[in-house]
Amino acid sequence: MAGQPIFILKEGSKRTRGRDAQSNNIMAAKAVAEAVRTTLGPKGMDKMLVDSMGDVVITNDGATILKEMDIEHPAAKMVVEVSKTQDEQVGDGTTSAAVVAGELLKKAEDLIEQEIHPTIIASGYRLAAEKAVEVLNSLAMNVEMSNRELLVSIAETAMTGKGAEASKKLLSGIAVDAVTSVVDTNGKKTIDKDNISVVKKVGGRIEDSELIPGMIIDKERVHTNMPEKVKDAKIALLNSAIELKDTEVDAEISITSPDQLQSFLDQEEAMLKKIVQKVISSGANVVFCQKGVEDLAQHYLAKAGIFAIRRVKKSDMEKLARATGGKLITNLDEITPEDLGFAKLVEEKKVGGDSMTFVTGCDNPKAVTILLRGGTEHVVDSVDSALEDALRVVGVAIEDEKLVSGGGSPEVEVALRLQEYAATLEGREQLAVKAYSEALEVIPRTLAENAGLDPIDMLMELRSQHEKGMKTAGLDVYEGKVVDMWNNFVVEPLRVKTQVINAATESAVMILRIDDIIASTRAAPGPEEMGGMPPGMGGMPPGMGGMPPGMM
Ligand code: ADP
Ligand code: MG
Repeated sequence: MAGQPIFILKEGSKRTRGRDAQSNNIMAAKAVAEAVRTTLGPKGMDKMLVDSMGDVVITNDGATILKEMDIEHPAAKMVVEVSKTQDEQVGDGTTSAAVVAGELLKKAEDLIEQEIHPTIIASGYRLAAEKAVEVLNSLAMNVEMSNRELLVSIAETAMTGKGAEASKKLLSGIAVDAVTSVVDTNGKKTIDKDNISVVKKVGGRIEDSELIPGMIIDKERVHTNMPEKVKDAKIALLNSAIELKDTEVDAEISITSPDQLQSFLDQEEAMLKKIVQKVISSGANVVFCQKGVEDLAQHYLAKAGIFAIRRVKKSDMEKLARATGGKLITNLDEITPEDLGFAKLVEEKKVGGDSMTFVTGCDNPKAVTILLRGGTEHVVDSVDSALEDALRVVGVAIEDEKLVSGGGSPEVEVALRLQEYAATLEGREQLAVKAYSEALEVIPRTLAENAGLDPIDMLMELRSQHEKGMKTAGLDVYEGKVVDMWNNFVVEPLRVKTQVINAATESAVMILRIDDIIASTRAAPGPEEMGGMPPGMGGMPPGMGGMPPGMM
């Protein structure tokens, strides 16, 4: 039976092997990196993402862009994952991570061309990454939680080039104050970000944003006769509605005389009164209800001088429970004084024409809220995402107490040290370490490119400063000069940089080690898919749409 092909795969499965598989994967990964590259740094541009519903997001956050892009190629997805992990772990450096991963693969491609086996490249990359982290650690400087100025610089660096640019001074201060107020100092410092809420309110200016020592609920009290302000609030958090339950079975009540109708209504009224009475006797003077509050019940509550809001979001109810120390009450019959939460003040205030409820002086002082203002929804959203980055990096900096300078300075320094390290290695891994060091320079190079500077000149100048021992020399993208980033207050948490190295290396190595792609067809392909290219595979899968690198 010689010469007879043997089929081990289902008909329609597609298999790509060897070089083809590698170059296919590398190309896709590079395309992803290329897509976010122009957004890197203070002078990076934004992307406008329009989803299938026509909703618009304007962002330059790598993780957000890649998430919204709906990428399908399996290797490209792995780079998206790098960015996502970066976002989850440190909240910043998402663009850098994808860009470095893409560059590592680009350099690997050159080595593969020179007949260097991917496993050698992989092991060289691993060595290089280990060394890079070591160098980064040696570059790190300490930061204390009490050093507000330095923490503000970290927040500012994270917000640079984002939507919040114009008011980053104010917002950085707010971010630092918010994070420092929720730090848990028992033992190792930790930050529970759930304690910081961000409430967005369109209208006004970004500068009107403020930090509130408590919670804000975007609702007004249900009845104007209720007090606008309750001091020493005892708060009932209700999961259930304050209304009469609908009859469960279809019941028919036949009323034959006006008297009967009146007595029926009286009875209903009495029942509702009884329910409200339970709330009153628990000692509560504030009610936050997740469901509805019937008109008549509103009236009784108002009469009892109780402040009530209804249809509070579930997530807000949970936060309120944490902040005030109250319990979520599902069954009104079981409400007790111990279930109530506490706050020094519950107050309705006007914010940009709308009334909101402020809950301050909470039992748990760790609950704080940032009230974000801005001209339009898109402005508020983009400020929110910049602020999110700032909150995360400040948190990371407080937890780790370690910083490095930014503006490409650590990358150039690490690249230089890696070149020296490569010289000590024997064999072909040396080439891989060298390639790795060159790949890291993609960060300063891109920062320069995006700022309209000459990347070659800038890189030469950076290298020469670092060779002279200026470890913190980085790119002043505004002046087009190489300066000491430390003096420019461009600083970032160490963890942002080590995570970029680790995540980018891992994924590059994983992609490099693949030399065989076996893709099965989807179960029961539709008629339009029959005969065509199997989805998710082939030269250019649907998600990438044949888009050449550099199209975005
Ligand atoms: P990422 O998603 O990777 O954080 P960014 O667009 O936030 O991408 O850009 C981060 C890069 O910009 C970092 O290398 C950082 O050091 C650099 N950077 C931030 N602020 C400045 C600045 N004022 N001058 C020079 N470089 C800066
Ligand atoms: Mg950033």
